[in-house]
Amino acid sequence: KPPIQSDSVAVIGLGRFGGAVAESLMRMGHEVLGIDSNAELVQKWADRLTHVVQADATDAEVLRQLGMNHIQHAVVAIGSDIEASVLTVLALEELGLRDIWAKATGTRHGLILERTGAHHVVHPEAAMGERVAHLVTGKMMDFLEFEDGFAIAKTRAPDESLEKTLSESNLRQKHGITVVGIKRRHADFIYAQADTYVEPGDILVISGPTNLIEKFAALE
Ligand code: ATP
Ligand code: ATP
Ligand code: CA
Repeated sequence: KPPIQSDSVAVIGLGRFGGAVAESLMRMGHEVLGIDSNAELVQKWADRLTHVVQADATDAEVLRQLGMNHIQHAVVAIGSDIEASVLTVLALEELGLRDIWAKATGTRHGLILERTGAHHVVHPEAAMGERVAHLVTGKMMDFLEFEDGFAIAKTRAPDESLEKTLSESNLRQKHGITVVGIKRRHADFIYAQADTYVEPGDILVISGPTNLIEKFAALE
């Protein structure tokens, strides 16, 4: 049985989502234990992760034999089989894992995962859908919302901010957002300060409450 380090991450379910998580973790230098019940997927990932095992993850005893009780972080990336997803989270919780992440396919699935013992529930489809909605109107060039309704976005500098410093346009007082930085064409990103001058064509990186970010990005 291979030795498992305590900062290793187990990724259970090596579909598109789990595969992307596992691959990124490897690139970041972590040990990754991949588990999937599908033999073909196990073979596909065998050379790309630290350890790859074919097993039914809903069985706590099987997970214990794999040494999962010595791992702290697990990502349950089983989607369409909700029963398997929930039973796997339950088994991990039983083994006492301290950091269980689980992918939900919908709101109710997410609620069940939380009640079952998942410490973090992610909704990739919903989150990406919301992000695309913000981007598709063309007002924002990038958008990232944190859990508490706070967001960071990239947007074109509005007319009222042009050919002035930030302290002259008074954006924080007027719009409740803070300019974090400015990206000018053919120039490096610069951190914004009160005396930073904004030119036509500048891209602003702004932060603040999501609703205020949305209003600010809609300005011409
Ligand atoms: P994705 O969108 O990430 O490709 P999905 O949402 O379609 O995945 P599934 O295909 O249901 O999700 O699950 C992902 C993986 O989880 C599959 O490769 C499947 O073999 C694996 N899996 C399902 N049930 C179990 C289980 N009980 N034990 C281990 N792995 C499982
Ligand atoms: P305040 O008067 O709000 O206490 P301050 O003491 O930090 O601000 P300055 O830093 O000189 O004073 O900024 C004056 C005004 O310029 C701020 O109130 C704010 O509206 C605007 N401002 C300065 N920096 C930024 C920024 N990075 N993003 C948005 N607005 C800014
Ligand atoms: Ca899917």
